[in-house]
Amino acid sequence: MRAVVYNGPRDVVVQDVPDARIEKPTDVLVRITSTNICGSDLHMYEGRTDFTPGGVFGHENLGQVVEVGPAVDRVKVGDWVAIPFNIGCGFCRNCERGLSAFCLTTSDRSVFPDMAGAAYGFAGMGPYRGGQADLLRVPYGDYNCLKLPPDAQERQNDYVMLADIFPTGWHCTELAGLCPGESIVIYGAGPVGLMAAHSAMIRGACMVMVVDRHPDRLRLAESIGAVAIDDSKGSPVDQVLELTNGIGADRGCECVGYQAHDPAGQEHPNMTMNHLVKSVKFTGGIGVVGVFVPEDPAPQDALYKQGEIVFDYGLFWFKGQTMGTGQCNVKAYNRQLRDLISTGRANPSFIVSHETPLEDAPDAYRHFDARDDGWTKVVLKTGA
Ligand SMILES: [Zn+2]
Ligand SMILES: [Zn+2]
Repeated sequence: MRAVVYNGPRDVVVQDVPDARIEKPTDVLVRITSTNICGSDLHMYEGRTDFTPGGVFGHENLGQVVEVGPAVDRVKVGDWVAIPFNIGCGFCRNCERGLSAFCLTTSDRSVFPDMAGAAYGFAGMGPYRGGQADLLRVPYGDYNCLKLPPDAQERQNDYVMLADIFPTGWHCTELAGLCPGESIVIYGAGPVGLMAAHSAMIRGACMVMVVDRHPDRLRLAESIGAVAIDDSKGSPVDQVLELTNGIGADRGCECVGYQAHDPAGQEHPNMTMNHLVKSVKFTGGIGVVGVFVPEDPAPQDALYKQGEIVFDYGLFWFKGQTMGTGQCNVKAYNRQLRDLISTGRANPSFIVSHETPLEDAPDAYRHFDARDDGWTKVVLKTGA
């Protein structure tokens, strides 16, 4: 099969690798038809993680089932499925509580002895190959495959967002504690930030503010009814306070992560976190789904080598704010979000800017990594 293989920093190639296959009776084999490039792929692409050269990227996957192991009951050959980026087992202490991002069965204990969580094609998240390829092995297929309705094939660009970014954006608003009628500020108008904004609109926010500096992304935020805040034109905190009568937003979302940088390009891994403390009200809630890592092999900020940031904890405490963090438990949301899509209440494909054949992945990675104007979200198509 063909696959997008990581050679080293900013170097990926599409090449033939051994076919994914059924390895355990509970596996499902999926022929991937749509697979996204994610912002979190870029941390690995840029060499900012310990992702091993020779590995296959791709954790936002959709396709059609071509084979099922003998212990698979529910999923059938021919089913169209969206596959959560988390690989859960369904029966461990965390999966049973809906915390599928922190599965204790599928995690790689060589990373940390008490490691929780696994994902496809992801640094530190286990040996699982990614789905930017013709085929993907899905462990515990009955649990991890979300069956899609009859319009799946035609609406792949909507349903493929169920693998990660739509649930992740939704999760961020959940971690922040958003209630109907509240205001929310979202830092980052990349794909996840835009999905958080889309989710906040669906969940009845009275005002959704989105902070970024790329005109194409801010235009997309405005296209769904959000207020665009350009942080290259002045302090985003001041702009949020001005829009909220000096009080601050009820809720805030971090959708940038540790490579947050100022308009001049200098990275400050604490920048969005401290902006959130200042632009969210007393007693407000903050959700953090932007990626932070325990170790950065090539930090711009010396302290962040060990994953540490200078956090404005005094003000955070003084304001009585709460914060929720971490990867999204996709299984906790993807069924409901699928039904929002199928009934037309949600249309997450509005962020897709490029559909590209799998062969062109290296070029697409270059453009997306450079944040080239108009490259907001890439869906790779295998053409199978
Ligand atoms: Zn992703
Ligand atoms: Zn589990």
